[in-house]
Amino acid sequence: MYGIENVTANVFTHTGLRGSNPSFVVTSDGVVAIDTPQLPSRAVEWRREIESRGPIRYLINTEHHVDHIFGNYYVRGSGALVVNHRELWNRFMVPGPEIDPFDYAHEALPADDPDGEAIFPDRDEYYRDPNKGSIVFTGDLTLRVGEHTFELLHTPGHTPGQTTVHVPEERVAFTGDTLFSGCQTWLMTSDVDQWVAALDRIRGLDVDLLVPGHGPVVTKQYLDVQRSHLLAWKSAVAEAVAKGWSRDETVARVSFADEFGPVDIGQEYMLEYIQTWNAGALWDQLTGSPSGGGMPRPLDPRAPLA
Ligand SMILES: [Zn+2]
Repeated sequence: MYGIENVTANVFTHTGLRGSNPSFVVTSDGVVAIDTPQLPSRAVEWRREIESRGPIRYLINTEHHVDHIFGNYYVRGSGALVVNHRELWNRFMVPGPEIDPFDYAHEALPADDPDGEAIFPDRDEYYRDPNKGSIVFTGDLTLRVGEHTFELLHTPGHTPGQTTVHVPEERVAFTGDTLFSGCQTWLMTSDVDQWVAALDRIRGLDVDLLVPGHGPVVTKQYLDVQRSHLLAWKSAVAEAVAKGWSRDETVARVSFADEFGPVDIGQEYMLEYIQTWNAGALWDQLTGSPSGGGMPRPLDPRAPLA
């Protein structure tokens, strides 16, 4: 598959796709996959790539956001056991007030994967078996596969089921969206305080490299950059609340669009939306207001009108 990156001897990832960074680890007893490509054609290609190196033993998802889990559908029948934290499993492709994840997966096709239309399931077919998994855990879980150890660490914050996968033999950890490397951070309904604690937990791991949910592979130094972005957002909105700004005023005036990099691949048109959502969600949390989410999401301007 074009663009696969060899991170360490047995660790591979792809940081160039629309969606998350799907990854895998080759062991002496098959392959362990971490997250799946959101775009159907890429998911099929990715599965073929992995299976050329051995059977897929396990598939671990790091969070319930669409771009990490939708591709699970294309790994059905591979024999892979899907392993997910209970808080992730409970939210797997469940439509919420602010997003219908199935529609969101479909929306990316015209601009980014027109060939994917032919293998995109209809809604009923999809929900009959989205491949959400049969091993559901709480707390942490350790898997031993061949000569490799996979420590699945519950690191909530970005999402309640957020999981970090630590592979000590490769001195690598896969963080999911606990790290947005070199691009805008999506707070959505995140708990920022928990998220900062998650960064601290990852800092304690004896690793050389971190594979983030989005953007290039980084070292532990980036944990401090991510923390600074989270704290900047929270303190800017806290100051707005202290000045007595309304929600609308806060959303209009607090923005890090010019400071924290572009939006990850394929979603550049979401830049202003992310600012609005982040500021609004934090205002709600800091003022103890009910969530004012549900603002209309921009459609991809590259998509042809139906
Ligand atoms: Zn996410």
